[in-house]
Order: sequence, then C-alpha cells, then structure tokens
Amino acid sequence: MKRRTGQDLSITRNWRLATQAVRGGTARSEFGETSEAIFLTSGYSYDRAEDAAARFAGEQGGMTYSRLQNPTVEMLEQRIALLEGAEACRTMASGMAAMTAVLLCQLQQGDHLVGGRAAFGSCRWLTDTLLPKFGIETTIVDARDPQAWQDALQPNTRVFFFETPANPTMDVVDLEAVCGIARANGVTSVVDNAFATPALQRPMEFGADVTAYSATKMMDGQGRVLAGAVCGTQDFIDNTLLPFTRNTGPTLSAFNAWVVLKGLETLDLRIRRQSESSLEVGRFLEARVPRILHPGLESHPQHALAARQMSAFGPIFAFEVADRAQAHALLNALELIDISNNIGDSRSLMTHPASTTHYGVSPEKRAEMGVSEGLLRLNVGLEDTDDLIEDLDQALRQVGL
Ligand SMILES: *Cc1c(COP(=O)(O)O)cnc(C)c1O
Repeated sequence: MKRRTGQDLSITRNWRLATQAVRGGTARSEFGETSEAIFLTSGYSYDRAEDAAARFAGEQGGMTYSRLQNPTVEMLEQRIALLEGAEACRTMASGMAAMTAVLLCQLQQGDHLVGGRAAFGSCRWLTDTLLPKFGIETTIVDARDPQAWQDALQPNTRVFFFETPANPTMDVVDLEAVCGIARANGVTSVVDNAFATPALQRPMEFGADVTAYSATKMMDGQGRVLAGAVCGTQDFIDNTLLPFTRNTGPTLSAFNAWVVLKGLETLDLRIRRQSESSLEVGRFLEARVPRILHPGLESHPQHALAARQMSAFGPIFAFEVADRAQAHALLNALELIDISNNIGDSRSLMTHPASTTHYGVSPEKRAEMGVSEGLLRLNVGLEDTDDLIEDLDQALRQVGL
C-alpha cells in the first residue's frame, strides 16, 4: 500500500537507523509533499463548537494550540523517538529547556538527585544552584565510578543525571552499571546523550530510563538552530513530562523543528564521517601535545568501555597544553578552525572551556571536574582532514609545540 499521509508504525519501527533518520515520523498533507511541511501556525480552528469541546476533553484527536501540539514538531518528535528506540519523545526550545524540564517535572522539595561531576556548565548550574533553591538536595559524584553512585544513594534519591561522554573532559560513564544501580533502587536515570546521539549510542539499550538532548548539536548538525528533546516511556512523557511542559511552555518552534528534521536526514552520514576525521586529527595531536582526552584513542583510560557502548566516538574531544596563555595563543593562531564554543557543527570549532563554556563554574569546581587552564575542546567538522591537520600543525608551531 502506498502511504500518502501518515505512516504505519508497525512498518516504520522495523526500519534501520539511517532510514529512520530520513523518513521516520513523516506525515504528509493532502498535497503529498516529499519534504516535510512547515506548519507555522499558533492555533487551529474547529468545524463546530462541539469539536472544540471534544478536543479539549481529549475525546477527539487533533490539535488545539501550538504550545501543546504542532504537526511539524510532532514529525520531529516521532523521528527522534524512532531513532532512539523510545516509546515517546517531546522536543523543547533548547537543550537547556529539555534538561530543566526533565528534572523539574519529576522532582519536588525534599527529593534528592545524584549528578555526574563532569558536565555541561549550565547542567551543573541546574544541579548545584537551581535545584537546591527549591529544596531539592543534590550530590555530585565522579560519574566514572559506579560505586560512587551506589554510595550516594539516600532513601529520598529520585534521579541520577549524567552525560557520557561528558563535556568537556570526555569522561565515559558505564551506562549498564550506573543505570542498573538506579533501576535496582527505584531511581530514574536521565542520560544527556548530546555528544553521541542515537546514531552512536542508545542509552536505553543499557538500561537508561530517560534520555535528553541538546538537538542544537549533532542533530541539527549545521550550527543553525537551538533545539532540545526528551525521550522516555509513553507513561513518563504523558504523565510526568507533559503536565510540566504544557503549562510552562518551553516549546520548540515549527520552523526550528523543520530545520532539525532536515538535519537528521544526514545525521548518520555526518556523524560517521566526523567521527573518522576526529580520530585522525586526534592521532595527529596525540604526538604533539602533552595530553589528549579522546574516547576513541587507546590512551583514553575508558577506551574499552566507550567501545562497548558506542559504535563510533563522535566528533568532539579535548586536549591540554601548558596553561591559559598557551591555549589562547593556539586559538589565536588558527587560520581555518574557528574559535567557537559551539559543538556538533559541520565546521571545525575550538574553544577554551575554562574561559567560555565553564566560565560560570568556580575555579575550584573546574579543577575538580578536570577543566584545567590549559584544556582546549575541539569539534571536528566535515572539512578535509588534511586541511584541519595542516591548520593545527602551523598553529602548534607558532606556540612552540
Ligand atoms: C550544549 C549542551 C547542552 C545545552 O544545550 P543548548 O541547546 O545549548 O541549550 C546540554 N548538555 C550538553 C552535553 C551540551 O553539549
């Protein structure tokens, strides 16, 4: 049967990842457009007052208001859920909107959260500053050590929250072990999977309950829009996340959803090519800098674990030079690679986390997290790898490396 409009999930669920990335969730209008339509509308109209009443009562399918539903946004949500192998997904206006929603929707005063130490700066602000303000206790642990998670458990622990690989030190967390401890203790594990995306790592296959994304990064993949997503069971999305997001409104715009839909079409292709280039650039740098943190290199202390959990290692890694002065000098000497704190872009970008993404984290906490003064983070893009290596080579020479 030719499917002109909606997709039959019993068929599409069986498609492989690269196919899902191009076609998953597509719902065509009566015009049969091949590329997904952008529905730039805030509201919807009804034929009869009784239809409006029935839709609000949940007795009739259909949309009521774009804070709650939008056809373009729903296509993206279904596509991400299919890629993730999750029952359901809801998108948000940014990665941080997704992280905030996924934590606040399930925590309340008197609850306890355990979080990973190495994390995106704003994620650490959520766990260290925002949650305690509302009477939610947090314990921060070295996420690489499963025993630390076990030891941090309290009777009121509700959530484990971590990234793997983590920003920017590339710490790798044992998903099976840590999510297993969560499950055995009735705790919800929330994994920020922005660095890997479902194309390289599917945390739910290792026991994660919920995954959360900055879709700004590899999912858009071309540095255009901000977007976020949360994936989980239908029950979690409908009964825990939705009451929070429907009423607080961190909604993704239809236009941005469409841009991410276009980005996902090339996700598999981009992330595999960028992962290969990242390894090649990493091998070049390994011989030139004092220390490199790349989960794909054997020198990474958790390389074997990363290889078990990930099908490739992604475009991002970090390395160390002597100090802030040398790090800034190296950035300033670059001719091709941009100085930029974004990641997941098709362009190669480099940043000095201590003075940018982790500027808001205190120097003591930065030291604890491994964000040293000489640490640089590199996102390897889609340019020719030889051009990237030549640029790094000339910049390293300029700073005496
Ligand atoms: C970028 C990022 C975020 C925040 O996402 P935004 O889309 O910038 O709001 C959260 N977690 C990780 C790991 C990130 O890299």
